[in-house]
Amino acid sequence: MTELRAGGATDTGLVRDHNEDNYLTDEGLFAVADGVGGHKAGEVASQTAVDTLQREFRESTTDGLVDAVKTANRTVWDLAESNPDQRGMGTTRTAVALVNEDGEERLAVVNVGDSRAYLLQQGELEQLTEDHSLVEQLVREGQLTPAEAQVHPQRSIITRALGLDPEVEVDSWELTPYKGDRILLCSDGLTNEVSDDEIASTLRSVGDPEEAARQLVNEARDHGGSDNITCVVVDVLDDDNRAETASKALAAEPPPPPRAERAATVSSPAPTDDEAATATRTPARAAAAPTQEPKPRARRFTWRVFVFVLAVIVVIGGALAAVGWYARHTYYVGLDNGQVAIFKGRPGGLLWFQPTLDRQTTLAEKDVPPSRLPDVKAGKEEPTRADAQRYVNNLRQEAASQTTTTTLPPAAPTPAPTAPPPSTP
Ligand code: MN
Repeated sequence: MTELRAGGATDTGLVRDHNEDNYLTDEGLFAVADGVGGHKAGEVASQTAVDTLQREFRESTTDGLVDAVKTANRTVWDLAESNPDQRGMGTTRTAVALVNEDGEERLAVVNVGDSRAYLLQQGELEQLTEDHSLVEQLVREGQLTPAEAQVHPQRSIITRALGLDPEVEVDSWELTPYKGDRILLCSDGLTNEVSDDEIASTLRSVGDPEEAARQLVNEARDHGGSDNITCVVVDVLDDDNRAETASKALAAEPPPPPRAERAATVSSPAPTDDEAATATRTPARAAAAPTQEPKPRARRFTWRVFVFVLAVIVVIGGALAAVGWYARHTYYVGLDNGQVAIFKGRPGGLLWFQPTLDRQTTLAEKDVPPSRLPDVKAGKEEPTRADAQRYVNNLRQEAASQTTTTTLPPAAPTPAPTAPPPSTP
């Protein structure tokens, strides 16, 4: 029998006034849920989802877990529909369960939303789930780097959650549990504050799962705690000597090429759930994979997923093109190294579209009339290049007339209007 031990921790954080996260550490079933929705509906959504999952997870297979998540989705949806106060509420759901597939014990991982599951195996941390979030999609399409996504103002927008539609698509994975493996489930309150490296370091150094979960929560608080934080740590204490058997088998035989080894260890049947983007993954032990090549993840897309992804790309692409057009098809008059210059774009830039220098002028900053200087410093926007040029010409004229006035000698009081001014020889 595979033996597991788990611990969890949750915290409101330092900014929010209530905790909409929930978690579950039950016999062989572990989950986190991050609720969304006003009037405390987020709490209702995440609690309902946790309770329903616990009640409905009866058939301990991967499909059984996926079905329980779908039932939880339906329950939250029905509740939101029947209660106007809770309309639009939803929740993420990341769960792991010990299941039995054709007589083999496996860990089934399921995910909807932007909470995450990580696997720490032989000291290496790997993110198992993919976030269903807007920034994650932009990263996948190459529009954002992971570093940009980490600080993007819209990083909390999720594209999939339980309770938002009567049907939901559930991602699922299967792992072979090996003694010493450690799984972390967490809400985005952790991953938005604490880097993967810091998470790995804590998971490697703190032995007790509950203490590890608590320490991760505290680290997120120390980094600002701007959201609710929830962590569940699940340890594989015993694995029926699977790890030892695997090592012995590998030691006895000449090691096969890594690719062949991996193919041989994928023992679960092809997924049959047509609705879900299902992937099956068996971790290759370090002994079996001496090379550092990335582990392939067999991901099977159905045509529905393909059409959905295509539609999302078209919509996002169109929106980006519109924003890009708006950001780039305008001009402003500003300063460049002490000279007045015309820029293409918006002052300060818009999203990642930065303004570019269109043309320098010969007008110096010190010659700009003081009344106009604040506008120029802030960037005086003009719809076209010609308008911007006209504005610069006006500045030049104003500057010229001011120069004339100020360089005239102060008018001396004239005793008689008819007397000619005293002339110097
Ligand atoms: Mn959150």
